[in-house]
Amino acid sequence: MEEIQLFLAHAIQLEREAASRYDELQAMMQSAGNKEVAAFFADMARFARRHLEEAMQRGGFREIPQMHWSEFRWPSGVSPEAAAWEGVDALMDVQSALLLALDGEDRSRSFYSQVRDATQDPDVRRFAAEFAEEEAGHVEALHHWIERQHAGR
Ligand code: ZN
Repeated sequence: MEEIQLFLAHAIQLEREAASRYDELQAMMQSAGNKEVAAFFADMARFARRHLEEAMQRGGFREIPQMHWSEFRWPSGVSPEAAAWEGVDALMDVQSALLLALDGEDRSRSFYSQVRDATQDPDVRRFAAEFAEEEAGHVEALHHWIERQHAGR
């Protein structure tokens, strides 16, 4: 696998996990009766799926690339999303759900920026930079929602 494809395979995995995390968070907020935050999480799931699509197209993958976990090269051994998932529970309140989502976005952002800074491949760098920037936007959006919750609005 070429470096760009290897990178995109990581991005695909990360965004898949992000999308399903947001699906779960969305369902939790829905059942907790918080429609506003549920709708926000639904948007975030859509963004993750859009990223996933982009990475699939760019990598020329017709199907999700099947990789053994040992082929992945995550900075800390597990995918950033999987790391963020530790500590989830079904009775999570809004604040904890937002903090969990923030943690996932923050880890994704730092994964993409680490790739951007480490790679020698200009295509990988361009993509990783673009994705890192979008993740930074998601981190910002989450900070905004967390502040709103604090302010009780
Ligand atoms: Zn994101």
